[in-house]
Amino acid sequence: MKSRKAGGWRYILSAVFFVSFIVLCIYIASKNRIQVESITLPWLGTYADVPLIVVLLTSMLSGMLVTFGIMLVKDIRRSFKQWVKAREDKHKGFIEHQYAHALELMAGGHPAEAATAFNKVLSKQPRHVESQVALGDICFSTGDWDRAAHYHSQALELNVGSADIMLKLSQDYQRAGKIDGAVDVLQRIIQSDGSNLTALSRLRNLYCNQGHWDRAYELQQQVVSLTRDKSQKSREQQTLLGLKYELAATQAAQEQKPEAIKMLKDIIKQDKHFIPAYIQLVDIYQQQQEYSNAYQVIEKGYKQNHSPVLLKKLEEVSLSHNDPQRAIKAYRKALQERPQDFSLHLFLGMLYLKLEMLDEAKERFQYMIQQGQEFPLLHYELAKVHKRQKHYEASCDEYKRAFKSQEKQLLRYTCGECGAQLPYWEGRCHHCGLWNTINWRV
Ligand SMILES: [Zn+2]
Repeated sequence: MKSRKAGGWRYILSAVFFVSFIVLCIYIASKNRIQVESITLPWLGTYADVPLIVVLLTSMLSGMLVTFGIMLVKDIRRSFKQWVKAREDKHKGFIEHQYAHALELMAGGHPAEAATAFNKVLSKQPRHVESQVALGDICFSTGDWDRAAHYHSQALELNVGSADIMLKLSQDYQRAGKIDGAVDVLQRIIQSDGSNLTALSRLRNLYCNQGHWDRAYELQQQVVSLTRDKSQKSREQQTLLGLKYELAATQAAQEQKPEAIKMLKDIIKQDKHFIPAYIQLVDIYQQQQEYSNAYQVIEKGYKQNHSPVLLKKLEEVSLSHNDPQRAIKAYRKALQERPQDFSLHLFLGMLYLKLEMLDEAKERFQYMIQQGQEFPLLHYELAKVHKRQKHYEASCDEYKRAFKSQEKQLLRYTCGECGAQLPYWEGRCHHCGLWNTINWRV
């Protein structure tokens, strides 16, 4: 506004100067009558006896007209630019307002209305990346993975190389079951930024799901070296051990037993509490019928961990070559050291039952009940003893006790991480995917 006003004054002042100057010239000319003999103007011909004042005024007038023209053009250009900017500002303001409104709707828990608002933004500004991303997020949250991938891909085309958008896209693909697509996107992120922990961890998980243990192991080494937080680092190291354990298991299955044994011993050296490595090592020795090695590993492992799972394994080995006394001895020895470990009483009782040593089994189970132990499996096992001894009434009572409680299941293997209950021991919980988390609980 100010500059336009100043521009107006400029024209008025120029006009006043111009008029005063002409008046002055005419006045001077009337006092001095000077004639130009002849004057030749290009394209306009030759003129004779022209008064000097006419020549002067004509030259001046043309000069001033040119200056005036230039000023006018400049002013018109500036005004046009201002008009364009105002239009753009208005457009931008509308988009910003619509986008803010859409975000409010989203925060207020109205995804459908938010999607409409984001689409309005896109109708005015098809290259609005944030709206494309938000629409992808809404589709993702409603389970429409394919459309989520469509929006996130479009956003990525507008913001090439954005790791955040690529992470979202990889999740869309993963949920849509397009695992190769997800792997490809995560690999692209890692190629451009090898320290993106989220991408590394997600790609590792995908390789784990696909059973590509070698690739997962390689990535996990990078994850461990990049993790700074102390407690998180120790968790990542456990995962690294878990992956090494899977590599060893694969080698054992491919008849590369010496390599597998070496890796498993390495794992135990790194973490003497990693039970799955002991069990896998025992499995290999058992397959090779090297029973004394197998027992040695179990005894060493039990000494370090006091895990009943290891003694259960010892029982399996001893029964596999008809030496049950070895297991009985091991349980009794462990019970001398840890008489309050009721899982040992239970396992020994169950072994007695298996060996038809019914009185010993009964004694064990009844001792546990006397000591206040109360769970379905205990009554279930005692019921089996009574049944074998043909004490049908007592057996019936125990079966009733076994199944009357709220806790219907008999499974006692539990994942310490996710709480999943399993019928048998596993090195890796297939619910939460972690290793060395499953234990026996009484
Ligand atoms: Zn679990």
